[in-house]
Amino acid sequence: MVDEKQCLFCRIARGEIPAKKVYEDGECVAFLDINPRNPGHALVIPRKHYETLLDMPDGETGEYFRSVKRVAGLVKNGMNAQGISISSSNGQAAGQVVAHLHFHVIPRFAAEGPPGLESMLSSKRLDDKAMDQIAQAIAKASPEPAAMQDFQPSAPQPRQPAPRPVQAESAIRAAPRPTTAMNKTEQSKKKRDGEDEEEFESIDDEISFDF
Ligand code: 5GP
Ligand code: ZN
Repeated sequence: MVDEKQCLFCRIARGEIPAKKVYEDGECVAFLDINPRNPGHALVIPRKHYETLLDMPDGETGEYFRSVKRVAGLVKNGMNAQGISISSSNGQAAGQVVAHLHFHVIPRFAAEGPPGLESMLSSKRLDDKAMDQIAQAIAKASPEPAAMQDFQPSAPQPRQPAPRPVQAESAIRAAPRPTTAMNKTEQSKKKRDGEDEEEFESIDDEISFDF
């Protein structure tokens, strides 16, 4: 747990550490990332210290997302970008380095021949039964405390104890391990997308679901 006094992004929000601010309102601040992945790469943070999105009360997420959208528009128009990537890593396992909630807003340019950000994770092959088990585990899971007040499950569900995470893991283990062979649909999609099959296969080789 990072102390708000010491938190880097809290300090930027309070103006104690300089940053190139591009937007601010009562609740949020946006500033340029010090290591921009493209010119105009901005970070949008709430002024209040929440480590991840799941810690933010539901009542504050709407305003926060409005600000993310506003900044996305400013960055896109200010940089004459053709697209915008918006991403947020939540938790160390997801790659979060600074433990204060932030969304990356990155201008994207057609000339980059750009992949979507999610393509950094290769797709996992899961059979239909495993997909059903996974969908159920997620649909029946308990919400995070920050969402407790006004949480409505997508479909009315009988109240059940939250499934233990091991259920989801065993569902994945039960599925056939990914192989290097791609099915026909994947192959033709990758050909269409001009992706390098060899590279995909070698990355896939290293995947293990034994997490
Ligand atoms: P994360 O990996 O946590 O999603 O992203 C943290 C981001 O914060 C990184 O892209 C990194 O470049 C940026 N960053 C880290 N320290 C500073 C800083 O002192 N000032 C600014 N403007 N950005 C920072
Ligand atoms: Zn903070």
